[in-house]
Amino acid sequence: MKWTPWTAYVVFTVLVLTAYASALMTAAPVAVVSLLSLAAMAGAITAMLYGLRRHRPASRWPWLLIMAQLLVTVTPALPPSVLAGGAHPTVTDALLLASSGVGALSLVLILRRRTPGWDLPGVVDAGIITVAAWLLSWIHVIHPAVGGAADLTARTVIAAYPLSDLLLATLGARLLLDAGPKSVAVRCITGYLALIIVPDTISSVSAFSGDDRWMPLAYLLWTASTLLLGLTGLHPSLRDVDARAPTATPDLSTGRLAALALASLVAPAALLVQYLRGAPLHVPVVCASCAALFLLVIARLAGLVVTQRRMAATDELTGLRTRRHFQVALNSPARQRSAAAVLLLDIDHFKNVNDTYGHDGGDRVLREVAHRLTGAVGAQGMVARYGGEEFAVLLPNVTPDQARAVAERIHVAVRDTPVEVGPDTAVTVTTSVGIACRPADGTESQHLTLLADQRLYEAKAAGRDRVVGYSTPVAAVAA
Ligand code: GH3
Ligand code: MG
Ligand code: MG
Repeated sequence: MKWTPWTAYVVFTVLVLTAYASALMTAAPVAVVSLLSLAAMAGAITAMLYGLRRHRPASRWPWLLIMAQLLVTVTPALPPSVLAGGAHPTVTDALLLASSGVGALSLVLILRRRTPGWDLPGVVDAGIITVAAWLLSWIHVIHPAVGGAADLTARTVIAAYPLSDLLLATLGARLLLDAGPKSVAVRCITGYLALIIVPDTISSVSAFSGDDRWMPLAYLLWTASTLLLGLTGLHPSLRDVDARAPTATPDLSTGRLAALALASLVAPAALLVQYLRGAPLHVPVVCASCAALFLLVIARLAGLVVTQRRMAATDELTGLRTRRHFQVALNSPARQRSAAAVLLLDIDHFKNVNDTYGHDGGDRVLREVAHRLTGAVGAQGMVARYGGEEFAVLLPNVTPDQARAVAERIHVAVRDTPVEVGPDTAVTVTTSVGIACRPADGTESQHLTLLADQRLYEAKAAGRDRVVGYSTPVAAVAA
C-alpha cells in the first residue's frame, strides 16, 4: 500500500476509534479515554492544518473557525468527571454554546461564498428539511428537557443545546441542498454535522431521562465526528468547498424529491404516532409545522413553474426568446389592434460557416448575431430565435418606414463587423431580411409572418444580403 497523508490518517482514525471503543467497553480509567479524545482532536487539527497548507483554499477563515470549534467541542467528548458540574449555566455550557456559534459562523462564510445570491430553491429545500427536524426535536428533546428544568435560566440553557444543534443542522442542510458541487469535503462536513447531532441528542435525552445507557455510544460518535473533520482537511476537494456554485437552481433529483416528500410527511406522521400511542398531542406545534411545510412546498412549486416558464420562453444557445413565445406575443389580443412590424432574418450561407469553422464556430456566430440584433432593435422590440439560423423581430407601434430603418440597422450591424470564431479568426456574415407591417400589409398575425417569410425568400432569390419590405422593388434595396 502506498502511504499518503490520507491513508495514514484513515489508519490513525481506525486505530483511535478501535482503542476508544474498547476503552469504553472495558470501563478503562478516565485518563485513558480522555487521552484518546485529545489524540483524536490533535490528529484532526494537524490534518486540517496540513490540508490548509497543501490545498490552499481561497479563504482560510472558515477552516480556522472550524478548528477553533473543534478545540472546544472536545470538552464534551471527555468523560463526565472531567466536565464542570453544578447548576446551569456552567463554564462548559458557555464554551460549548459559543463553539456551536463559531461552527455556525464558519458554515455561513462557506455558504455565502458558494451562493452569493439567494439560491432560493436551495433555501426552500433546506427549510422543508429543517421544519421537520425542528418539530421532531421539539417533541422528543426540547419539550421534555425543558419541562424538567428547575428555573428559567436552566430551561434556557438546556433548550439552547438542541437549538444550537438545529442551527447547525439547518446550515448543514443548506450546504447539502444548495446548487454547488457535492464534493468529498462537502460530504465530510455534512457527515460531521450529522454525527455530532446524534450524540448531542443522546446526551440531552439522557440528561432529562436519567438513563445514560447510550452515553458511551455518544462519546464514540463525538470522537468519530472529530476524526471525520480531519478527513475533510486532507482531501483535495477542500479547495472547492467554498467555490461559487455554477447555477442558481439545484437539480431536483429523485433522491432530493424523496427526501423532501419524507420531510413533508413528518408533521402528520408525528401527530398520528402520538395519537396511536395515547401520548399527549402537540397539536399547535404540529399545526404550525404543517402550515410552514405547506407554504414551503407551494413556494418551491411556484419557483419551479417560474423557472420552467422562463426556460420555455428562452432559447438556450442565444438567450433570445423562443419562436413559441414570439408567436404568443404576436397573437396577443392587445397587439392585434395596434400597428406592428414583423422582421424575419436568415443568415446567408450559414452552412459554409459550420463546414469551415465547425459547429462551435457556427454557434459563436449565432450568439454574436443574436447579441447585435438585440442591440440594434433596442428595448421596445422583441427578438426571437425562429429556427436554426433564422431570427424574428417584433416591433410594436412602428410605421413601415421605421420598421425598414430598424431592419437596415440590423442588416448593417451584422455585416459590417466580422464575427470572431476562434482566437485569431473572424468571419464576415450577411443576412437576408423580410419585413411585413400591420396594418399596411394586413391585420392578421399569421398572414404577417407568412408575408415576412415570403419577402425573406424574395431577398434570398435576388442574391441574398439585403432587406425586402412593403412595396419595395427587390432590386432597389440590394446592398
Ligand atoms: P441560405 O443562404 O440559403 O440560408 O443558406 P444556409 O447555408 O444558411 O441555409 P441552410 O438551410 O442550407 O443551412 C442552415 C444551417 O444552419 C444548417 C444547420 O446545420 C445549421 N444550424 C442550424 N441550427 C444550428 C445551430 O444551433 N448551431 C449551428 N452551429 N448550426 C446550426
Ligand atoms: Mg434558414
Ligand atoms: Mg441561412
